[in-house]
Amino acid sequence: MDIRANGVDIEGEFVPAGSIIWGAGVKASPAHALLGIPGVAGSRILVDDDLRVIGFDDIYAIGDISALAGPDRKLLPGLAQVASNKGHTLDKACDR
Ligand SMILES: Cc1cc2nc3c(=O)[nH]c(=O)nc-3n(C[C@H](O)[C@H](O)[C@H](O)COP(=O)(O)OP(=O)(O)OC[C@H]3O[C@@H](n4cnc5c(N)ncnc54)[C@H](O)[C@@H]3O)c2cc1C
Repeated sequence: MDIRANGVDIEGEFVPAGSIIWGAGVKASPAHALLGIPGVAGSRILVDDDLRVIGFDDIYAIGDISALAGPDRKLLPGLAQVASNKGHTLDKACDR
């Protein structure tokens, strides 16, 4: 598929369009399999509030690959701001 300014080329057939909306699902790299643990919510690794992988004392996961619950206990979304904040949080924790 080739998205252009004036339409979309789908397997050789050009479909003219003024507006193009692209919806994509997001699935994390299956790193959970390396740890021998199940992935949650799109192959993510469940972490505690300190970003420590559940069941491990010395492994942390940040970014989209980690599944962290917010104050309402729902998993935070896979967004850049969330990933960035996880990085800053762990960076500060390492300084302590
Ligand atoms: C189509 C799309 C649109 C998006 N739009 C927005 C938006 O508008 N606003 C927003 O806030 N967020 C958006 N996001 C989400 C945002 O991109 C992510 O939340 C953010 O990039 C997560 O950062 P990250 O560092 O955790 O992961 P990534 O940015 O995905 O970086 C992970 C890196 O690890 C590398 N990697 C993977 N597996 C391995 C491996 N086995 N060995 C070595 N390297 C590996 C990958 O190649 C990649 O470079 C969008 C995502 C997608 C897919």
